[in-house]
This record gives sequence, C-alpha cells and structure tokens, in this order.
Amino acid sequence: MSMTAARSAPRQLFVTTALPYANGPFHIGHIMEYIQADIWVRFMRMRGHEAHFVCADDAHGAPIMIAAEKAGVTPQEFVANIASGRKAYLDGFHISFDNWHSTDGPENHLLSQEIYRRLRDKGLIATRTIDQFYDPVKNMFLPDRYIKGECPKCGAQDQYGDACEVCSAVYAPTELKKPYSTLTGATPIMKSSEHYFFRLSDQQCVEFLRSWALDPARLQPEVANKAREWLEGESGLGDWDISRDAPYFGIEIPDAPGKYFYVWLDAPIGYLASLKNYFARTGRDFDAFLEDPSTEQYHFIGKDITYFHTLFWPAMLKFADFKVPNNIFVHGFITVSGEKMSKSRGTGISPLRYLDIGMNPEWLRYYIAAKLNARVEDVDFNPEDFVARVNSDLIGKYINIASRAAGFITKKFDGKLAMAWATQDDSFLSELRGAADELAALYEARDYGKALRLVMELADRVNAYVDANKPWELAKDPANNARTQEVCSRLLEAFRILTLYLKPVLPELAIQVEALLNIAPLQWSDVNHALPDQHVMQPYSHLMTRVDPKMLDELFEPPTTAVEEIPVSDIEAIDAEIKIDDFVKIDLRVAQIVDCALVEGSDKLLRLTLDVGEGRLRNVFSGIKSAYQPEQLKGKLTVLVANLAPRKMKFGVSEGMVLAASAKDEKTDPGLYILEPWPGAKPGMRIR
Ligand SMILES: [Zn+2]
Repeated sequence: MSMTAARSAPRQLFVTTALPYANGPFHIGHIMEYIQADIWVRFMRMRGHEAHFVCADDAHGAPIMIAAEKAGVTPQEFVANIASGRKAYLDGFHISFDNWHSTDGPENHLLSQEIYRRLRDKGLIATRTIDQFYDPVKNMFLPDRYIKGECPKCGAQDQYGDACEVCSAVYAPTELKKPYSTLTGATPIMKSSEHYFFRLSDQQCVEFLRSWALDPARLQPEVANKAREWLEGESGLGDWDISRDAPYFGIEIPDAPGKYFYVWLDAPIGYLASLKNYFARTGRDFDAFLEDPSTEQYHFIGKDITYFHTLFWPAMLKFADFKVPNNIFVHGFITVSGEKMSKSRGTGISPLRYLDIGMNPEWLRYYIAAKLNARVEDVDFNPEDFVARVNSDLIGKYINIASRAAGFITKKFDGKLAMAWATQDDSFLSELRGAADELAALYEARDYGKALRLVMELADRVNAYVDANKPWELAKDPANNARTQEVCSRLLEAFRILTLYLKPVLPELAIQVEALLNIAPLQWSDVNHALPDQHVMQPYSHLMTRVDPKMLDELFEPPTTAVEEIPVSDIEAIDAEIKIDDFVKIDLRVAQIVDCALVEGSDKLLRLTLDVGEGRLRNVFSGIKSAYQPEQLKGKLTVLVANLAPRKMKFGVSEGMVLAASAKDEKTDPGLYILEPWPGAKPGMRIR
C-alpha cells in the first residue's frame, strides 16, 4: 500500500469568487464560477485544510441607483430584494459559501475608508479637475453608459457614449453629435469637477506590481502576459479615477463632502468585509487571520475583470498594509453550443429553470468540472455532450459499479463485507489508491477535466474487473459464496475510493454513498483506510438517475407564450374604423407636468400645469386623483390632446386633456394609468 495521501500541515485559506453585481439574478456564468471555486474549496477541506469561502453582493454604483429609482424603491431595498433570491441558486447547486454579505454592509464602509486613508497617508491619492457631461435636469454627472447621440463617424442615431454599434468606431462621449441623456432626454452640459485618483503610475506601485504580477510562480501564463502588456506597454499604467460625485449610491470619501468611492474601489474590499462579517459572527479574529503570514488568499474571477484584480486590487492592498492575494484564478466564459451567451437571444441556460424541471445539480457540477482546466479558456455547454458524459461516464462507468455489487452483499450476506484480503498488498486496489497524489495535484491546479478523465480511467479498470469476475455468474452457485462476497466487497471498496476522488465535484452524492457504506464523511487521507472486515453496509438504494435527453429540450425551450395561447381578455369592443385623415385631426403632444396640485372641493380631479413647448403653460383638470398623488406626477412627461376646445369647469378652464388607460370593468381593475413617453421625448413633440 502506498502512502499517497500523507497529510501536510493544515493550511489557512481565504477564498472568494467575484462579487456579482446586485442588479439581477444569477446567470449560468455565475454558477459556473461558483462550481469551479466550490470544487477547489471542498477539495482543500477534504485535505484537512481550513478554507474560508465567502462572497457578497456588489451593491453600489449608478446602475443600481437608477434601477432602484425606476422601481420606486431605495437602493438598499432594491439590493435586499436581489439578495433574497440568491439562496435558491446557491443551495440548489450545492455551493458551500461560509458567508454571503453585501458591499453596502457597515464592515465595507469602514474598511474602504480605512484603506483609502492609508493610501492617502502614503501620498498615493491625487486630485485633479476633470470635465464631464452633466445632466442639468437630473442634476448629476452622467456615466458614459447614460449618454447617447449621433456617431461622429457615420452619423448613426442613438449610439452610446463610447462606441458605435453600426460602424464600430470608438470615441469619447464628448465627440458625439447631438448628445442626450438617456435618463431625461436633456442635452448634457460640460461641467468640471474635482476627482480623486489612486496614483498607480507612482514608481513604487509599478515596481511592486512588476514583482507581484510577473512572478512566474503566480498568475496563469496568459494572465501574466496580459499583465506584462499593461505594465510594460508604451502608455504605462495610468492613475485610476476612484471618485464619483453625488448623487451616487456608494461609500462617502473621508474629508471630501459630496464625493463617493467609485463602485470598483469598494467592490473587491467587499471580499474582506464579508470575511470580517463572517469572523465576527463565528467569534474569530479577523485582524489576526490576515496578519498571519501563513494565511493564503485566492480569488476566482472571470477574464473580463482581470485588470482590476491583477493591478488595482493587489496595489491597493499592498500600500494599505494589507495582505496581498497569493493568486488570482481566472476562468473563461461559458458558451452554449459554441455561441456566446445572450439573454436577449435566449440561448442562455437559466439556472433556476434547470432546477425547476428536475435536473440533478450534480450532473451540471460534473459536466462543468469535466470541461474545466487551469487555463483561461471558454467552456462550452453542448447538450449532446452533456447527456453523453453524464449517462456514459458518470452513471455508466461509476454509479453502475455500486449497483452491480451492493445488491448481492445485501441479499446474500446480510450487508456484510469480506475485507480480510485487504490487509495484504493488493495490486488492483493499489492501482486505484496510487492515483491519489496525481489527482490531488490536478485538483489543486484546478485541472478538473484531467482529474475526471483519470477517475474515469480508473473506473474503466474497475469495470474490467467486474467483467472478468462476473459477480452475477458467481452468485448463481452457493459453492462460490466466499468468492462472490470477496469480489463484491472489492468492488465496493473500489467504489468507495472513486467516490472519495469525486467528492469535491459531487458532494451530495458522496453523502448518499457514505450513508450506503455506513461510513464517516470521507476525507482525502481515507483513501488508504480500507473498509474493515465484516463491516455492515446499508441496503442499496438508487444513487443517481440518467439524464433524459428530453430534459435538455425542455431546458432550452423558450418560455414564451405561443400565439394560440394568447388569452382573451374582457376588453371594450374596438371602435368603428376611421381613416388616417380622421386621426390627424387630433393633435397629440408630449407635455411635461411642471406642477400638479389637489383641487379643493373635488375628490376626482387633479390640477395639472403643463409645458407643451409653446412658451406658456397650460392648465388642465384631469380625473386621476384616485390613482396618483400630485408629487408622483411632478416633472413627468405625458400625452396631451392639445387641440381640444377649452372647457369651462366649476374650478376653472381646462385647456386640453391628458391620456390615461383604464379597464372596461372597474371591478376587475379599478386602476387608471397615465401615459408616459419613453425617455428622450421632449415637451411639444407631436405624436403621430
Ligand atoms: Zn458609427
């Protein structure tokens, strides 16, 4: 017996995945990253190491602030709502995070401000005045993604502030023709503001990053090559703009009123904040853990955020006197049948749909692991390949070993195993045990695909043993009982070893096998501890089913409503046909509600003061008091019938009519819904 799993001294590990932005639910790319990291963490724990595995919602920034405003909730409420949906995914795919926190938690506010102060005290923060587009209606500086206009190269309309989707030209937002704010439609003005910069171009930062990022023992080769390009390129490292002006959902910069940290400064600090929150909860010493030189820190991330994690993040930590990461593990994207995932095209896999239709989460863990390696390569989800790998490899080669041996042990031998032979050197099992070191090295190097290929090769050898010894033939003749019991016991010991090797990938299945074999949770070092002689196992029950290929069709079926299924509603009958000439008689205009007030003595009406771009304001009474508070309508755009004859009412003259929708039957839906044009429309525009 080889002493393959000799235990090294326990290591202290701090492991994270990237923090997901809290503006939507997880997609399959998140789940892939969590599975990759979870396998690594579970492997480390099986080795007897202490692995603290945390994550958090990335809560700050303009997109969340604006999305919350649109949803009519505070950013905190918006983020809490997203966070409440996380558990279903994490539990569903057996992701073993120790803690899930938020970058808006108090720990992150304190840590971000502390790190900033330390950088400032080292002279690594500079201020500079920059000119930026400003939305005069919303009273805020506009991030590039909220500016559109005409492409300066080809004239295409409605192009974003950084690049043209029509001609692919790249430009600065200031170069756009006829720029407008996508938030209000207003023409942005140039405004200057003082910004805070992390002086990454400082020689001490550059020197540190050269030694950290280019250490050949650290980053993956392709990641190190990228870092070298950034560090040694002609333009060199630029300083990093870390501030944003109010209004901003984020963390206030100390001693800088109205300035907030750019979300990308405080997001990675959220790794530390989540660990701190978890340690406080479990009575551990956060500072002592991070100050301990033997603590190792690793971050699993996607290739799109390499720049932040290999330059900004280690430099921030280094010069704020924190531990710097031991390594950053970068993975590629997930594609589906060779195509890049796109929510709009519907080629993505919805993780919740996967679970809802009853697909086993460990099939996906196995499949993703089988396709992952240590390089920054994309992983392709291919439905046929998925079915083949789960059914032929996982079930056909591995699960079947147990189903072929366990029944005889239960039926013929009262669940008792004959293991006396195992005290001697046994070439069959030595071969299986002998792979432990190589497999451990592959797991540690995140070369999971290679690890699983090796496990399946071992399973092939076990199956060859099954075919050579034919337990179902042996079992026919009671004269062979001793031989039958030994062959089946040998197969179950082999199955135990294979399960141990697969446990980081298939944790729930391993729990089932541990229950079946009636053994304690498998640790890596258990590879050499054979089941004892006369050990009693539990009766075999089904461990895992095959994938029905129909499930894959169901997984990819677009969950849209088919035409014949559009429900018939109880609507008002459509009116008699009119000609276009009839329609154009009605002059509909975009109107801005500049003021809105209650009407004394009326329980139905609101008084609207409207700007239709005429150089004067109009007074319009509208029977929408049951549906809106005046405050809700102020500043909004709506639609006005502008050429309706003025009507004298008890409360004054109404100069037009605003449009609102309502149901046929007020009992089914008593609501009134005022019309609002899409962003970009301006008062006075005609609706035709
Ligand atoms: Zn263009």
